[in-house]
Amino acid sequence: MAILPDALIRSLQGLPGFDAAAFTTVHAQEAPVTSIRLNPQKAFSSQHITSNLPALQAGPQPERIPWSSQGYYLPLRPSFTLDPLFHAGAYYVQEASSMFLEEVVGATLDVKEPLRVLDLCAAPGGKSTLLQSLLSPESILVSNEVIKTRVNILAENISKWGAANVIVTNNDPRDFQRLESYFDLVVVDAPCSGSGLFRKDPEAINEWSEANVVLCSQRQQRILADVMPALKKGGILIYSTCSYSPEEDEAIGDWLCAEFGMTGLQVPIEEAWGIVETVSEKHKAPGYRFYPDKLKGEGFFIAAFRKTSGGETVKTPGTKHKTGSDSVSKKEREVLRPFLREPDRYFFIRQQDQLITLPASREDDLRILQSSLYIRKAGVRMGTVIREELVPEHELAVSTLINATVPGFDVDETTALDYLRREAIRIDTEFKGWALLRFTGLPLGWIKMLGNRINNYYPASWRILNK
Ligand code: SAM
Repeated sequence: MAILPDALIRSLQGLPGFDAAAFTTVHAQEAPVTSIRLNPQKAFSSQHITSNLPALQAGPQPERIPWSSQGYYLPLRPSFTLDPLFHAGAYYVQEASSMFLEEVVGATLDVKEPLRVLDLCAAPGGKSTLLQSLLSPESILVSNEVIKTRVNILAENISKWGAANVIVTNNDPRDFQRLESYFDLVVVDAPCSGSGLFRKDPEAINEWSEANVVLCSQRQQRILADVMPALKKGGILIYSTCSYSPEEDEAIGDWLCAEFGMTGLQVPIEEAWGIVETVSEKHKAPGYRFYPDKLKGEGFFIAAFRKTSGGETVKTPGTKHKTGSDSVSKKEREVLRPFLREPDRYFFIRQQDQLITLPASREDDLRILQSSLYIRKAGVRMGTVIREELVPEHELAVSTLINATVPGFDVDETTALDYLRREAIRIDTEFKGWALLRFTGLPLGWIKMLGNRINNYYPASWRILNK
């Protein structure tokens, strides 16, 4: 049960949609909502998820989240760790309110166009995996996290999501100034005072203070000012927080309009959704507030802006020097191509002994990004070619690019969980060589069949530890 600070309640009095009694009650009495968002590229339905999670097999069924095409509320919180589909990247466990990003993107951009998108504060990857699902395969998403210790989980979640058009970076917001007018869309899901997540994380209540709200607001301005040059003229900025405090929400909108000549953009909402539209005090920039007493979701704020100043989009330099692709031999390319469903859509690069694939249409972008940022992971790592044979990487197994002709074996849940714990597994077959281990059709990783035994190649650092 969450007891809220009086100072927080006082500071929110009078805000549009704020109802102190209902807000306090919902924090005192109701558990946070559990929701998931399906990975459309892994072709799964909510029925698959339900039938696989024993806790969900009887009783109330998942319900659609009204502002999301792939989001579902779950009637309870199952053990995701013990669900092989979770490890296969079939879905992402994400807070329902933040899935409204889909509506904001849809209302402000033509996602059928190839876009350059930056998710500046990306770990652990909720907004990035959502953005990736919304964008065309010819778009490129730079998913950045400044805090080094948080980049690993971001890279892991992006790998499981399986797409080739994401580049994970570990840079300070100001490093993006090297990419002047480069991005069509910048998403800043800013670090904040966190009042919106008090139901999920009651411990955070003790850390809340008015002084911290002010510090957060200053940091948010610094982050935005640092990244703003990287957004092209006419480009879209989407700003969000999980704070209710106007200093971190509408006031930031006013500051963006005053300092950078941004124009606030409206997003259509349905009344039944319970989302509260507000406008900033001075510039009347629209913003969208999510209160847990008005809808099924946690506290959230989001607003979109168009940049009206600065340079037009950068021209990509010619393709004279291709990014490392020269160093991938014709022979190696011949080994790699059969592993991909649509090999002509991709190009290959080498990083040390690893061969990596990215969308062919984005070769120039990789070169530009490589020269400006610290890249933690780009595209999909396919593996190493040794004696004309691919020693495959885990990222390839869980990618959405992999060819259905790659050998694989479907196993039951017990075997799938043994595999994910990196234990020994048995499959009755004469087959020898590399194969995918699949659960309900979705690859979990690689195995190597040696005749008398099977080697388990699930990444040691990802293995599940609980029994
Ligand atoms: N977008 C993420 C998602 O949907 O999964 C959640 C992002 S969380 C609200 C804010 C992120 O900003 C954190 O990962 C945090 O490490 C990062 N951050 C903290 N200080 C920062 C700074 N000074 N500049 C940029 N990012 C920062």
